[in-house]
Amino acid sequence: MNRTKIIKELKGKSFDLLVIGGGITGVGIALDAQLRGLNTALVEMQDFSAGTSSRSTKLVHGGLRYLKQFDFSLVMEVGRERAIVHRLAPHLVHPDKMLLPLIKDGNYGKILTNVGLMIYDWLANVEQADQRVMLTKEEAINQEPLLREDILEGAGFYAEYRTDDSRLVISVAKVASQKGAKLANYLEVVNFINNEVGRVIGIEVRDHISGENFNVFAKKIVNATGPWVDNLRKKDKSLKGKRLHLTKGVHIVIPFEKLQLSQTVYFDNQDGRMLFAIPRNNIIYLGTTDTNYSKDITNPKVNKADVEYIIEAINNMFPLAKIKISDVLSSWAGLRPLIHEEGKDPSELSRKDEIFHSKTGLISIAGGKLTGYRKMAEKVVDQVVSELGIKTGKCTTDSQLLDGNGFENYQDVEDYIVKLMTKYPEILLKHHQAKYLVYNYGINSDKILKIKEDNPQYSNIESELIYTIEEEMVQTALDFFERRTGRMNFDIESVKSNASNIIEILADKLKWNEKRVDLETKKLKNIIESKTTFL
Ligand code: FAD
Repeated sequence: MNRTKIIKELKGKSFDLLVIGGGITGVGIALDAQLRGLNTALVEMQDFSAGTSSRSTKLVHGGLRYLKQFDFSLVMEVGRERAIVHRLAPHLVHPDKMLLPLIKDGNYGKILTNVGLMIYDWLANVEQADQRVMLTKEEAINQEPLLREDILEGAGFYAEYRTDDSRLVISVAKVASQKGAKLANYLEVVNFINNEVGRVIGIEVRDHISGENFNVFAKKIVNATGPWVDNLRKKDKSLKGKRLHLTKGVHIVIPFEKLQLSQTVYFDNQDGRMLFAIPRNNIIYLGTTDTNYSKDITNPKVNKADVEYIIEAINNMFPLAKIKISDVLSSWAGLRPLIHEEGKDPSELSRKDEIFHSKTGLISIAGGKLTGYRKMAEKVVDQVVSELGIKTGKCTTDSQLLDGNGFENYQDVEDYIVKLMTKYPEILLKHHQAKYLVYNYGINSDKILKIKEDNPQYSNIESELIYTIEEEMVQTALDFFERRTGRMNFDIESVKSNASNIIEILADKLKWNEKRVDLETKKLKNIIESKTTFL
């Protein structure tokens, strides 16, 4: 994805479909549309996934919570989707066993959990080996000795999938681009262009890299801007009726030694909400909160109250852990773009998606989940095709492998990790280094290792940077540290120790002047600080 070339291909040009927003919803729509033969463009005002799609719990999950609401059709749909997305990118969406402790007066009683998880497995078509197992109290303690014993009554042990949300977005974006769609980051829609009868026929964008404005035209425009959907509906003068209701969700990261869990645990909090504790290499991340939000959408902050809430929940379920605020290594906050329902609390609001039609012809989509991105895209593109009055093939994204997938199945992914270690014994000294690359980049790991082999002056992380600049449109240090590699959340020490060399290479490759280098250095420093400063 060469940004300079793509900007030239966008400027003043006309497309069948133009998508606003490069989160999972937008890139999903762009891929689906391009595969059906629509000449498609996408503009993203920040970096790809910089909105909610890099700030989730990072699970591709079957929607256990919907079972409690007896919404079987939704469980079935997300369950099926989970399996499809795993097949499309087994290196990026991998199986993960979860433990659901059953506690006195908790959300899930023994019978509901047993029957519920059985139905869940059946609806979501879970393979025999991964189907749920019910554990007694003793078995649950054996499995997770840190669980609080006095309230524990047993546990359900079941299958879900985990992912890296940002990498999922970039993988979908890359395939859309390989299929001919024109996608670019740092292009903000500042105005809609309407014809004499008021139909929207184009957009004026501001290029935040060059500072210039230009127009792009399209027969159909889709607003897939997540939490910003109503801002664009306002610009389109169509903000009437249903509106968004934003809620904030926070995650914190602590060292694995502080809470040594053998698997993900999905547990009850005293207030009736459920939280996740998810081990990942040498850290564990915990969340989330769900509170009403009405402040700055672009930079939602993690407050002290958010962190205290999560820590209290953890210490209540795992009393021996004794987590303190000073244990927090990193954190992030994301905004759920939910649809407002009068009188409902944040956690009661539906997670379903909704499409809004404007008189100008603008289509807006909001709500939904990472997990259901493909189905949301299918629905939107079906509408686009019907409104354009053209004939195209059906949606084919269920068989379009995502970027980096060259695998038969998940076992093949694990085998590939070992193969890479044998091929590059001088570079990949440890299994976790190879696993990190393969889980993030799939078979493209080989390209990164080749860069390193051909340029021994580069360290491993620097070779990764070169790859992401050349192939994944990295424009800032944060694009690299936060969204392409997840280091800002999961390995913040490596960000601190590599900040200056990464900025130096970025400056060289992207031709930054001194002022830009200073700006990037300050920005990165502030972000690092904000990850553990809570007011
Ligand atoms: P976004 O990702 O926010 O994308 C919208 C994009 O539009 C942004 O990048 C923004 O910069 C861009 N934009 C805005 N205005 C403009 C403009 N004027 N011009 C150009 N671009 C613009 N789902 C799951 O399936 N599994 C989970 O585990 C999960 N956990 C979650 C945990 C939390 C805390 C939260 C908040 C959500 C979670 N979700 C989860 C839900 C999921 O993350 C969201 O539904 C999804 O990421 C929304 O994606 P989106 O593309 O609609 O919005």
